Amino acid sequence: MNKSLKLIVRIALLVVLVPLIALAVVGSFKTEGENSSIREKVIIEHSDSVMYVTVINDPADSVILRTPSEELSVKAIKSETFRTLAAKMYSTVTAPHQDGVGIAAPQVGVNKRVIWVMRYDKPGKPLELYVNPKITASSSSMIPGVEGCLSVPCYKGSVPRSGKIEISYISLETFRPVTEIVDGYTARIFQHECDHLDGILFKDRADTVYIDEAWAAERKEFEARGYFKKPDFLD
Ligand SMILES: [Zn+2]
Repeated sequence: MNKSLKLIVRIALLVVLVPLIALAVVGSFKTEGENSSIREKVIIEHSDSVMYVTVINDPADSVILRTPSEELSVKAIKSETFRTLAAKMYSTVTAPHQDGVGIAAPQVGVNKRVIWVMRYDKPGKPLELYVNPKITASSSSMIPGVEGCLSVPCYKGSVPRSGKIEISYISLETFRPVTEIVDGYTARIFQHECDHLDGILFKDRADTVYIDEAWAAERKEFEARGYFKKPDFLD
């Protein structure tokens, strides 16, 4: 092999090997999960106190809404990021242009198992925060009831749900699992929000889905005033 041929071989090896080694190193540091967590941290920190709500008719949002969410570790629950997420989700579900009875983290672009549920079964109907909620048992009798969803705007549907459920979640005081029995409309909200954490929407379970004209008119008015716009950093 003459000198110039050797040089060409060396350069060719460098051109092929260096990117391969670089890819292997970067790949080992940045897994898919880590990348999505970094994106979620940006969403949590950069969002206004009232966050953008993902909607099923937006292709990028629908991927988030259809992705099963991850559980939070105790370390994550104790983090500032979690407190910020919880506070901003609360501001979002109680904002006049949203006005929901519950919200799940995927609805603000974060695939983590965090929900707020309006406790119709408690005095004053407080919104309560649940982490890693799981329905551990449910009554077999299914009861139809009307549901809507902030991520499926202007639509409602009749959805059969269990009348009574057992839920478990992580206590935010002891960080240990707690079990509770819930029934009535609150049980319906829990089932709807827990479904979100598995990428399921009410319309997947509905017997009938229809447009709620009053909601559509109200949403149009808010839209005209600049609400529901997707922030630039989410594109
Ligand atoms: Zn929903």
